[in-house]
Amino acid sequence: MNDVRILIVEDDKSIMNLISITLKINGYSYLAAEGGAEAISLCALQHPDLILLDLGLPDMDGTEVIRTVRSWSAVPIVVISARGEDKDKIDALDSGADDYLTKPFSVAELLARIRAVQRRLQYSRSSSEEQSVFVNGGLRIDYASSLVTLDGEELHLTPIEYKLLTLLAKNVGKVLTHSYIIDHIWGNGIESDIVSLRVYMAGLRKKLKQNRDTSLIQTHVGIGYQMIRL
Ligand code: CA
Repeated sequence: MNDVRILIVEDDKSIMNLISITLKINGYSYLAAEGGAEAISLCALQHPDLILLDLGLPDMDGTEVIRTVRSWSAVPIVVISARGEDKDKIDALDSGADDYLTKPFSVAELLARIRAVQRRLQYSRSSSEEQSVFVNGGLRIDYASSLVTLDGEELHLTPIEYKLLTLLAKNVGKVLTHSYIIDHIWGNGIESDIVSLRVYMAGLRKKLKQNRDTSLIQTHVGIGYQMIRL
């Protein structure tokens, strides 16, 4: 039995059944809400450890739920959205969602996403006292000295590559949208675009030897990037 309790917010009964049965079989406990208002009150009263949130709800928009919950809670939120609704996913991520699942999704995908959130939570709990150093697999970032090593070898990053890497590291597990990254690296006023972001990201990945089997930084086509907690 996991001591993780998951709030499922979904108005489609067949998807609700699929998710709730999957969670039950795998030892998770869950709460269920069919609408946004119910989800918000369950979240406030029951403090779930994770929220699986459908974006198309009968009473309000899913992003509204995210914004409301985020005003008092940092609970991980994984959005469930239909294929081709990239704009909705981007809005949800920019409103504070952590990750997303695209319908139709497999049970394996759902469980992998939940485990990824759990790993991240365990990490943030255990590392709160030593936040000056970030370790993920073979990657180590010492923020105080700006020293980055991969498997013990120092990486020589450009200032922008370093900013990109630390932004992803500080949000490890979370999908960051292109516009979020651009705002944080270059600021709003400066001329910058997705094409240059892609170029910098390619350079960074090359230095991180991303051609190996571990894919530390994942691309979400049309959406953004995510550092995986290894
Ligand atoms: Ca729906």
